[in-house]
Amino acid sequence: MSGVCARGGRLAMLAVLVMTLAGCSVLRSSERTLSSMTYPPRVESLMGEQFAEEIEQEYPVVHDDVADAWLTRMGERLVDYSPSTSQQFRFQFVDSPDVNAFAIPGGYCYVNIGLVLFAENEAQVAAVVGHEINHVTRRHGILSLQRARGIQTAGDLFATQVTSGAAQQAARATANAGGYLAMRKFGREDEHEADYYGVRAMYGAGYDPREAVRFFEKLHGLQGGNTPSFLERMMATHPATQERVDRLEGLVAELDLTVPLTVNSPEFRTVQQRLRAKLTARTN
Ligand SMILES: [Zn+2]
Repeated sequence: MSGVCARGGRLAMLAVLVMTLAGCSVLRSSERTLSSMTYPPRVESLMGEQFAEEIEQEYPVVHDDVADAWLTRMGERLVDYSPSTSQQFRFQFVDSPDVNAFAIPGGYCYVNIGLVLFAENEAQVAAVVGHEINHVTRRHGILSLQRARGIQTAGDLFATQVTSGAAQQAARATANAGGYLAMRKFGREDEHEADYYGVRAMYGAGYDPREAVRFFEKLHGLQGGNTPSFLERMMATHPATQERVDRLEGLVAELDLTVPLTVNSPEFRTVQQRLRAKLTARTN
């Protein structure tokens, strides 16, 4: 009986391994030195759910029918023009005057009200949201978590999923919003990649990509010894250096700018007004 169980157990483990291998993604070449495997999208979604629960306790989400519909429409268009992903995106506003946005594994994308109020037009918001979406499509967050957990081989990955008994438990064990947010300062290569796909996504969605350059030029002009507090987090995670502005200009120069491009929509000012009225948090 125990032999049958052991064999059954081995078969079950083999099935899990096969499923795990089938669900794994091949990483881009730079990551192959670290590993040829990553968490399957299913585990990423579960981790995202756990992160989102914790994040939304710390960062109050605010809802406004008109603004939510505007953001979701814009976000979904940007996703359509980004590399494909199995993650389902969800876009929400955070009651914060800080100029920032972030997206976590699983496709949860948070946009601070402060970003929409600071932006001069819709295309500038799309530039930041498109960048964040592509941290998810390129799996930067989940890979960073994987590195942090010391998962370097398919065997390690297999062990974390089998020994924890279920993907849900693995997700719960790993999920820690504070820890995730603390480490979510991506490396230069990830930032470049998110810029590359972000600029292409906004362009594909019909936005003028020159607004991405203008947005970071504006940030660049404001930073320095007296960076305003509402820009601090954005600057910490996305330094608006001259090099970055130049690189964005290079990306834009590769695109045909003679086609019709949008900078703003008639709704943008209305959305700004509605969100301003919703903002209760204040900069200290
Ligand atoms: Zn980034």
